[in-house]
Amino acid sequence: MYPRAIENYFAPTDVAEVLTLLQQHGEQAKLLAGGQSLMPLMKLRLAEPQTIIDLNQVAALDDIREENGRLYIGALARHADVATHPLILQSYPLLADAARNIGDPQIRNRGTIAGSLVHADPSADYPPAVMALDGQLVVAKADGGTRTVLIDDFLAGPLMSDIGEDELVTRIEIPAPTPHSGGAYAKHSQVAGDFAIISVAAHITLDPSGICRQASIVVGGVIPKPGRAEQAAGLLQGKILDAPLLTQAGEAAAEEVETEDDVRASAAYRSQLIRVTVPEVVRQASTRAEE
Ligand SMILES: Cc1cc2nc3c(=O)[nH]c(=O)nc-3n(C[C@H](O)[C@H](O)[C@H](O)COP(=O)(O)OP(=O)(O)OC[C@H]3O[C@@H](n4cnc5c(N)ncnc54)[C@H](O)[C@@H]3O)c2cc1C
Repeated sequence: MYPRAIENYFAPTDVAEVLTLLQQHGEQAKLLAGGQSLMPLMKLRLAEPQTIIDLNQVAALDDIREENGRLYIGALARHADVATHPLILQSYPLLADAARNIGDPQIRNRGTIAGSLVHADPSADYPPAVMALDGQLVVAKADGGTRTVLIDDFLAGPLMSDIGEDELVTRIEIPAPTPHSGGAYAKHSQVAGDFAIISVAAHITLDPSGICRQASIVVGGVIPKPGRAEQAAGLLQGKILDAPLLTQAGEAAAEEVETEDDVRASAAYRSQLIRVTVPEVVRQASTRAEE
């Protein structure tokens, strides 16, 4: 289906201009980033904005850098940039793993990290990865204010996120990893390039003797939004991550994360995938932590 015709199209070149446009048109407007979720929604007429505010000409919204002990990823950074950026590959490989798993090359060349997080598909790849890394979003408001929101609070439910009609996500911030930290991400889907049936993100910090000091495990592909496997992560703390312990963590994660049937998979199959994937992903994360 063709989208309903829009009345206004704007292509601002800086953030201040975007915010002014949001103030004037916010209620009937949609921000357009990569368009890889918005355009399908418009074609299905599930979104019928009168006004499109195209972010693609806005300068300096796509930079990726480390500053003040944090990774800054501009809202317009494309999935392909996140998947291949040397700094991310070196220090935040879990994020690169997630970006590399999104859709196909065309989607990765257009889609943006902020667009994905705002769209908040519970089976998307970034949400569990950004959760495992304790990321937060910086949001600029039309009234000139700025707020920072933790990813766990930002993701509100299926296709629901904590963003107002007059707000723009300007960047994602991730705390720089401490020494001996490592992360990994894996996804199971029906076919390559599809959304996740189940995905698992893990971030591990070891002490110099190899004992786990901190662990985050997040499971995607479940509703209403990716879930933290806190009991599984708790089992790992203060221990050497040997095979029996990882199996135990997989069991615990399968027990504590609720799964449901849908067109892609049954709840039981999802639980089994969690059971076998958590040990693999934690093992890879801990190998990276040792490197
Ligand atoms: C065929 C296909 C396969 C896909 N497969 C996957 C997959 O395997 N895994 C996966 O994770 N995703 C997948 N996607 C979704 C893809 O990752 C999208 O790129 C992403 O969900 C949205 O990013 P975008 O930049 O395209 O956002 P857009 O579509 O432009 O926007 C999405 C929403 O975010 C809002 N928005 C965008 N930027 C901002 C901002 N800076 N501030 C505030 N609001 C903003 C828009 O107004 C809109 O509501 C797929 C999409 C398609 C079409």
